[in-house]
Amino acid sequence: MKFLLTPELGRLAKWLRAVGYDAEIFKGRIADLLAKATADERIILTRHLALRGHRGTPVWLIRHDRFGEQLKELRRSCGIRLSMKRLFLRCLLCNVPVKRIAKEKVGRKVPPYVFKTQKDFSQCPSCKRLYWAATHWKRASQILKTL
Ligand SMILES: [Zn+2]
Repeated sequence: MKFLLTPELGRLAKWLRAVGYDAEIFKGRIADLLAKATADERIILTRHLALRGHRGTPVWLIRHDRFGEQLKELRRSCGIRLSMKRLFLRCLLCNVPVKRIAKEKVGRKVPPYVFKTQKDFSQCPSCKRLYWAATHWKRASQILKTL
């Protein structure tokens, strides 16, 4: 399941990535949105009422304002899974899957405390950002628990 979101849903896009889904933000003209979604076989997520009811390409209208409610909405409508096991498998910024990286290779790219206390690191092949199970992960998993 892949998603194409209109720009007002930027926060939801990050959360979808955090739980492992391919979620791209559409930055072109609205007129080109359907063509892009069809070509990439993506489900459109939007808050634009005008985009309702197009045949062929699925368009889900997001009703809620808050990302927590939006995620719950998507769990009901699209059946997305909000699983801790899938947390941070994808870069939050680039929307590409991150790759495990050996601790030795991380070296000084992270603060010494992080290097000392963490075992597992992942890296985005595109922006080279490093991910590890720390504060972000804890916060995200707490939020997921409440959902
Ligand atoms: Zn990245």
